[in-house]
Amino acid sequence: MRLPHPLTGELFESPVPPGTGWPEDPAVRRTPVARSTADVVELAQTDELAELDARVSVCRACPRLVEWREEVALSKRKSFADQPYWGRPIAGWGDPEPRVLIAGLAPAANGGNRTGRVFTGDRSGDWLFASLHRVGLATQPTSEHAGDGLRLLGARMMAAVRCAPPANKPTPEERDTCSPWFRRELELVLPSTRAIVCLGKFGFDALLNALQSVGGAVPKPRPKFGHAVEYPIPGPYGEVVVLGCFHPSQQNTFTGKLTEPMLDTVMTRAKELAGL
Ligand code: SF4
Repeated sequence: MRLPHPLTGELFESPVPPGTGWPEDPAVRRTPVARSTADVVELAQTDELAELDARVSVCRACPRLVEWREEVALSKRKSFADQPYWGRPIAGWGDPEPRVLIAGLAPAANGGNRTGRVFTGDRSGDWLFASLHRVGLATQPTSEHAGDGLRLLGARMMAAVRCAPPANKPTPEERDTCSPWFRRELELVLPSTRAIVCLGKFGFDALLNALQSVGGAVPKPRPKFGHAVEYPIPGPYGEVVVLGCFHPSQQNTFTGKLTEPMLDTVMTRAKELAGL
């Protein structure tokens, strides 16, 4: 059944076939599809960030995650039953030559997996984009739908795992299968990047692994995750500062473990370090 996109009114199937007009869809119908771990390794070897985004967005390499993301896209949360669901992996998004990078864990089943844009349409994203707007890294305080005109200012977001996992928990094998996408994206944006904010421990650890594999001198013993920690790490294009930040999950924001001032402090610091 085709349903209207909440912004454009255009009709889409769920999941959304690539290249059919969904706002900000990076893929075209002929974008090559990764169907195995080996395919991911091979297809991640592109020099074009836009092509990498396109390839990520049609990937089918993890059977459990493909089944889950498409199942959620068809069954839908009741409050979104009148909307089409993206139901595909979520590519990195934002400035192609960022100075600040924001690294998370994975998209949410009824957030990014519904809207097709990272952190868009869920409560964590509401917190994150409001903070980015307050500190001057986003043009709007809200991010509800792809195609709403929102832009990040000198910043880019990406997730360590690109498909929504059941219970927000990818398996170690799924994390490893997805890692070539993450690593290659990091490699392509690293020349301009000066500060990297890692949301949560999973994103922090995945980022350090990726940074090391692209030539970053990650110290031993490994830096420990914590809120507002900072680690300068020499890399192939100069020093980048990796910052820890509690994830703006509902669990953290409801309990007061993460407050708006705490989030703003880290984002402001990243902006300063990046010279923005
Ligand atoms: S998690 Fe990553 S590797 Fe696995 S299907 Fe999604 S995009 Fe592909």
